[in-house]
Formats: sequence, C-alpha cells, structure tokens
Amino acid sequence: MTGVRPLPQPGPKGVKQAPPPNKWELIGKISAHPAYKALKGDDKARADEIISYAFFLSPRGEYYLSKLLLLLNTPDNPPAKTADAQTKQVDRSVKAAQASRKLDGRTWYVRFEQLVYIVIRESQEEAVSNDPKRKWTVLQNDGTRFLVDRSDPKNIMVKVKVKVNATPDMVARVHRLEDAIEKHLRIKGLVVDLVFVDKAGPDVFEVDADPKGWTTSGNWVGTANGLSHELGHLLGLDDEYDYIESHAANRDMHLGDRLHWFTVEMWRIRPKDGDQGFMSNHDNLPLDRHACEIAQLPVDTCVEARTGKKYSKYGAHSPAPAGPLPPPPRR
Ligand SMILES: [Zn+2]
Repeated sequence: MTGVRPLPQPGPKGVKQAPPPNKWELIGKISAHPAYKALKGDDKARADEIISYAFFLSPRGEYYLSKLLLLLNTPDNPPAKTADAQTKQVDRSVKAAQASRKLDGRTWYVRFEQLVYIVIRESQEEAVSNDPKRKWTVLQNDGTRFLVDRSDPKNIMVKVKVKVNATPDMVARVHRLEDAIEKHLRIKGLVVDLVFVDKAGPDVFEVDADPKGWTTSGNWVGTANGLSHELGHLLGLDDEYDYIESHAANRDMHLGDRLHWFTVEMWRIRPKDGDQGFMSNHDNLPLDRHACEIAQLPVDTCVEARTGKKYSKYGAHSPAPAGPLPPPPRR
C-alpha cells in the first residue's frame, strides 16, 4: 500500500498545544477521582476491568481511559429531571402522530376523502396480517412467543402482542403510537403488526412505561421511533450503536449501568452495517438484515435473497483488530 502520511501541522504561532493525556496521567486522575473512590461491588469490579484492559492490552487504551474519566465526571441526573424530559418527549411524539391524522380539507367531501385515506392507511398492517393465506411460524424471544410468516424471505410479516403496565394515562399515550411504530418499521418486504392487548399470556410481551426510568425494551417511554427500536429488542435484535460514545456521559442512565455497557462495548464486534439501521439510530429505518434476524432466518443468505446482492454481516473477512484511533463520534 502506498500513501502519503500528512505531516503533523504546527498550531497557531506562539500557542503551545498540549500533548494528549497519556495512560499514566489518566490512571492518576481516575484513581484520585471521588466518583471512582465511591464505587463498590460490581461497579468497582467493572471500572477496574476497564482500567486493566485499557492499560495493559488495548491499543486504544488512552481512548478508553479518557472515556472512563468522562463517565466519572458525569453525575446522574436526579430522577425527577429524567421523568420530566421523558414525559415531554412522549408528548411530542403523540402530537406528531396525531398531526398526521388531522383533517385539513376545506369542503366536506375533501374531508371525507381524507378520513377514508387515514382509515385505510392506518389499517394497512392489520389487513396484511389478517390475510388468511398467511403461513405463520411461532418463534420466541426470551421465552415469549410471536408470529412470523417467513415462507418468502422477500416478504416477511410479523405479528406481535404487547401489554403496557403503567398508569392509565401512560398506557393511553403509548397505545396512541401504535400505527406510527408500525409505519416506522415498514420497509419493502417487512410488515410488522403490533397489537396492544390488556391480558397477559405466553404470546404477550409485557412492558412498563415509567417516565422516571431510561427508555429500554422493558420501559416504553419515548418517541414512536424510539419504541420501534425497543420493539426490535423484544423481537430479538441487539443494539448496534456504540455504547461508549452514546452512554458514557448519559446523565439519564445510572452510573453503574453506564459502566456495564462500557465493558460490553469493549468486548463486542458490531455488524459492518450497524451504523445504518434503526438499532443504531432509532430514526433510521430497519435494514434487510433486521427483517431476516427477526424472522430467525440464516442472515447472509436471507439478505442475498431479498436484495440479489452478496452479503456478509461482519464483512468478507474476520474483522481487523481495533486500531489505535477512537471511532468517530456519533450523533
Ligand atoms: Zn436499544
């Protein structure tokens, strides 16, 4: 390989640029940090695991140590503040979903047409799912069952039931997002029919909707797009964003949880197209691969059948070892 390596550029005249902190300096700051000294049990063990991996093994040691320092420098938000921000977020999403149903025609027949259009549009997923020609396969994730028609990998249909356990007000808010969630998950060859139910059962995923907690697959507070991502988890998909970049300084997540996700990120390999789909950024759409993974079909061949192109989830070769540079910041 040939290539010209750019020479380091001098800073502005008279300004001495500080050298990047080295591992020793970072370890000194971390071990003297009051938040580090206050750690106990599992949290302490996780922080020490990060430190020793970063110090002794990783070529990206400085990156991990500076992110750990950032994590320790970021205190948790008080729960009330998190609840307030989360409730506002849900409200905004409900309003956006309602705005898409608004009739704005001036004459009665234009309004009538709009109403018919809304009814048809909102019942599309249900109509596809209730087609008697469907060949349902019962799949499960974490012991809960859901239905998939995967007889044609190019045309995958999912039917999943969810029960929201929360205050009546929060339950109503989440229910209003049903169609927006279905529409966000809809790509060519994938239809998800989300059915909210009031009764528990072996084919019902139960979730909370507590605005005091962070949005998770078990706590449905968030926008329609955010809840589509959480539904993705219930259907067996993993997160594909960088946990360290997203959560090290996330005040709405408990410090112990942030340490947990930090160590998970250090040890895992993300799919090569992970950054492009809704399991990385919930405003992105699902990828063909996600449809295949939800249907629990062999991923590479299923994607090839859907797209007609060669596909490999982790790239053609085993992933290269992590380089010395930190990944580019996300979002
Ligand atoms: Zn997630």
